[in-house]
Amino acid sequence: MGSTNTIPKATAKRLPIYYRYLRYLHEDGKERVSSTELSEAVKVDSATIRRDFSYFGALGKRGYGYDVENLMHFFSKTLKQDRLTNVALIGVGNLGHALLNYNFHQGNNMRISAAFDINKEIVGTIQSGVPVYPMEDMVQQLKMQQIDVVMLTVPTSAAQDATNNLVEAGVKGILNFTPIRISVPENVRVQNVDLANELQTLIYFIDHYKADSDGEDILLSLD
Ligand code: ATP
Repeated sequence: MGSTNTIPKATAKRLPIYYRYLRYLHEDGKERVSSTELSEAVKVDSATIRRDFSYFGALGKRGYGYDVENLMHFFSKTLKQDRLTNVALIGVGNLGHALLNYNFHQGNNMRISAAFDINKEIVGTIQSGVPVYPMEDMVQQLKMQQIDVVMLTVPTSAAQDATNNLVEAGVKGILNFTPIRISVPENVRVQNVDLANELQTLIYFIDHYKADSDGEDILLSLD
């Protein structure tokens, strides 16, 4: 299948959704799936699915659809799920603890293999099966464990400093749980996960919008 260099971001974001469903179909013994079936299951319209898949050179055959196993293996490789990916956690507070307890490994080939903190009380301990190292050991540990993706759960006031250290350590991706927009050089990717913001948006939408029959949101009132 084709190159993945130039796929649109929106397509890339849908890959894990497709992958999860393909795995489900595979486990269920299904050999093929049509874009219409996929569409109903993952709630993405079938024209978008066909366009997304065409970026990977996966062209469904009329009357046959897509080969589940082929597509699943391809997505698995694309999403680097064919090998275990170690990620690190920076900041073992409340949210950090919750993430350490979360079983990323279940059904996915990734896990938190190292955590870092400045708090002397937890440095040197093992939390939910994950060793907590001092920040001074970060560069060495990340290198040794070949970690280039981290989750950032330090307090807001420490976010940019910690980010600078991570950039210096050669990290390529940061899942930023802090509410500030951190600055990074172009070669580092940041995904922001602001839980309070998401909840606030949801509350706002419930109060102000209602979905029309196409599932599009329409404005109800601005009170
Ligand atoms: P949360 O925001 O996750 O609910 P919390 O309120 O328990 O966390 P915070 O003060 O936000 O605690 O700190 C989160 C964790 O980040 C703590 O364990 C703290 O020791 C750690 N931390 C604080 N500053 C830094 C830093 N510069 N580098 C690494 N870890 C840090």
